[in-house]
Amino acid sequence: MVEEQLRHRGIQDDRVLDAMGQVPRHLFVGEDLRDRAYEDCALPIGEGQTISQPYMVALMTELLELKGGETVLEVGTGSGYQSAVLSLLAAEVYTVERVSSLAEQARTTLKRNGFLNVHVRVSDGTLGLPDHAPYDGIIVTAGAPDIPRHLTDQLKIRGRLVIPVGDRHSQVLYQVTRTEGGIKQTVSTGCVFVPLIGKDGWEDETYH
Ligand code: SAM
Repeated sequence: MVEEQLRHRGIQDDRVLDAMGQVPRHLFVGEDLRDRAYEDCALPIGEGQTISQPYMVALMTELLELKGGETVLEVGTGSGYQSAVLSLLAAEVYTVERVSSLAEQARTTLKRNGFLNVHVRVSDGTLGLPDHAPYDGIIVTAGAPDIPRHLTDQLKIRGRLVIPVGDRHSQVLYQVTRTEGGIKQTVSTGCVFVPLIGKDGWEDETYH
């Protein structure tokens, strides 16, 4: 997976490649999908949600430009896999999930496998997690209609936000850096994520 799907496609940060090689992805999917855990695609994790494609996990992590010692917020815990990768690259990882059953499952998997610097919370991540702000990095693993203001406000100066922005079905990955004078944004690649649902995200269509 690391050689063919990541390094070969341009992921260069050795710390990211190393972390991706260390986290056993099969522990973060259901038993029925274990033999497909290292395939080059997203996989279902229940509740209509997915564990992201390994390449996208690596690319988004690389765009955070972590050096070690940072405090990071993830919005969209899902299976907990991305949080586990981040936990090897930063000092503390806070991760928020809106679906409580997924958060509970991720919390159990992370704890059981020793990823003890990950802290799982259930809340609307479009509002960030003010209790532990400001963050050196924020990563959003669901597609947003716009860049949520609460998230840029909770970044440190020179902190980075990595977020897919677009419509409900396809997005573009943005790397947003908070500077003294405002925010600076650069565009990475096209991507497809489940929608970010919440106050500063999309409306929940399940109730319509
Ligand atoms: N990072 C995850 C992993 O490694 O398995 C994949 C996340 S999945 C693509 C997106 C997740 O974002 C879903 O679990 C979904 O419930 C969650 N989500 C959507 N809107 C959210 C919100 N406003 N706050 C927190 N989580 C949200």
